[in-house]
Amino acid sequence: ESRAERILQTDGLTKRFGAFTAVDDVDLSIERGEFRSIIGPNGAGKTTLFNLLSGALPVSEGSIRFDGTDITDLSPQKRVHQGLGRSFQILNIFEELTVRENVRLAAQSVHRDDYGFFESLFKPTDRHEPINARTDDVLERIDLASVDEEEAAALDYGGKRRLEIGMVLATDPKVVLFDEPTAGMSIEETEATIDLIEDVLADQTLLLIEHDIELVMDLSDRITVLNQGEVIASGPPDAIAADQAVQDAYLGG
Ligand code: ADP
Repeated sequence: ESRAERILQTDGLTKRFGAFTAVDDVDLSIERGEFRSIIGPNGAGKTTLFNLLSGALPVSEGSIRFDGTDITDLSPQKRVHQGLGRSFQILNIFEELTVRENVRLAAQSVHRDDYGFFESLFKPTDRHEPINARTDDVLERIDLASVDEEEAAALDYGGKRRLEIGMVLATDPKVVLFDEPTAGMSIEETEATIDLIEDVLADQTLLLIEHDIELVMDLSDRITVLNQGEVIASGPPDAIAADQAVQDAYLGG
């Protein structure tokens, strides 16, 4: 087997809040095309780790490399520009805009040329062709092309979730970061969201933060388990399910 390419890597990543260490010397290595889940009981440091990766929080120690460059000190916006896409609890849809306008805004937000908001929405020219093409492509992939001129507010729950994923796809991400995408959902909504992630994001590199170990078992290529800020296990789902330290952490948590 050839050596797979690392797209996202952390080295000794550490976050302290005062004397308390929430993320403790975490080394992660995500390969291109991989579906990686980060799990752990409440208080394990998952949200803090996510915030370090997205740039919402500064690191205390360690570094983050993404697609060949050190992004440890980059702003969240610059990370998105470089292809680190975030979904849920961060990117919200604009209810009063159309479905198409929502996707278009996301596509435009990472486009190299900096068009104004109104120009980009209402005066499309051939200079906007790459944005228009990507918008069309995303609308097809999330299965909302037929309702593209409707207000986002008119979409049902599943439609809004698809639109949110579409807005992440429109930024042309190299890695998609998901923070508990099914938090607060019913069983039906959870299943629909998981199906959607599997369908629409099948060829993407995904890093999913999740509390529920059952949910990620079938989806993940590899699972990394955090407990009290530290990585206690990392490997394929079968190995993680059989790991005694993981079982202890979940029973003890
Ligand atoms: P998880 O997402 O796995 O439930 P968190 O990353 O939210 O865990 O929290 C990990 C630990 O860090 C918890 O003990 C939490 O109380 C603590 N923590 C998180 N954010 C802060 C903060 N801003 N200040 C102090 N402690 C924090």
